[in-house]
Amino acid sequence: MTFRTRFAPSPSGHLHLGHAFSAWTAWQAAQSASGAFILRIEDIDTTRCKREFEQSIFDDLIWLGLDWPLPVRRQSDHFADYAGVLETLRAKDLVYRCFKTRKEILEEIARAPHGVGDVYRGPGEPVSEEEEAERVERGEAFAWRLSLDRCRDHLGGGFDRMMFHDLDHGDQAADPLPLGDVILARKDVGTSYHIAVVHDDALQDVTHVIRGEDLKDVTPLHVLLQTVLDLPTPSYQHHRLLLDESGKRFAKRDRAATLNAMRSDGLSAQHVLDGFRT
Ligand code: GLU
Repeated sequence: MTFRTRFAPSPSGHLHLGHAFSAWTAWQAAQSASGAFILRIEDIDTTRCKREFEQSIFDDLIWLGLDWPLPVRRQSDHFADYAGVLETLRAKDLVYRCFKTRKEILEEIARAPHGVGDVYRGPGEPVSEEEEAERVERGEAFAWRLSLDRCRDHLGGGFDRMMFHDLDHGDQAADPLPLGDVILARKDVGTSYHIAVVHDDALQDVTHVIRGEDLKDVTPLHVLLQTVLDLPTPSYQHHRLLLDESGKRFAKRDRAATLNAMRSDGLSAQHVLDGFRT
């Protein structure tokens, strides 16, 4: 299969050096493999994402010398697709409604004998069907969580044999247990990053997901979703994160580190790219 990778930024601010490094790493990989590099706009969070930032992403990446095929997929144009994924998971009975507030969840985790961080391991006592129907009827807020127990039942022995290929570390076991029962959608937002990214990587025939190591922990969850949804699992690479002079990750609010500011200050793209090669 032809090598196909992507850069999938969220237009919630201007791109900074860290994004540029991520885009360039994926683009370089596609060039060396004579494959394709695609761009995808991940803007399901419509409260934070803005069209002006989307335009700035295009301008910044062109300035860096990257190119990609058109049209660019914009996730906010495809909410129905992601709702369909949630429907599929519901039909397979792998998700459940969780009515608990964040505070209640944290209290429950704190009470659990082997609680770790803020990982939620699912309701000890499931809400009965009657109670669930009543609470939905009353208009209560809820989140859809992926049940690891039900996924395990659904996949049988396959649950413990899930794997993915890591370009730097070879074949890896995909263990989603440390993440607990993750929220995949909320009553008012019928999707999440996890659903949209897994759906789109498959739809767009992405063979290699190249992204920052900050997303390494969620890769096993993505492999689990691919497995229960009968989607192919791409290969993964989690590149190092660029750090600023004080050793912190770049943030969208650091104006000086944005490509937009560098462009208007007359810096050359070559200067930025040279910094990545060292
Ligand atoms: N949209 C995500 C971000 O901006 C990246 C998703 C991914 O590469 O899987 O952090």
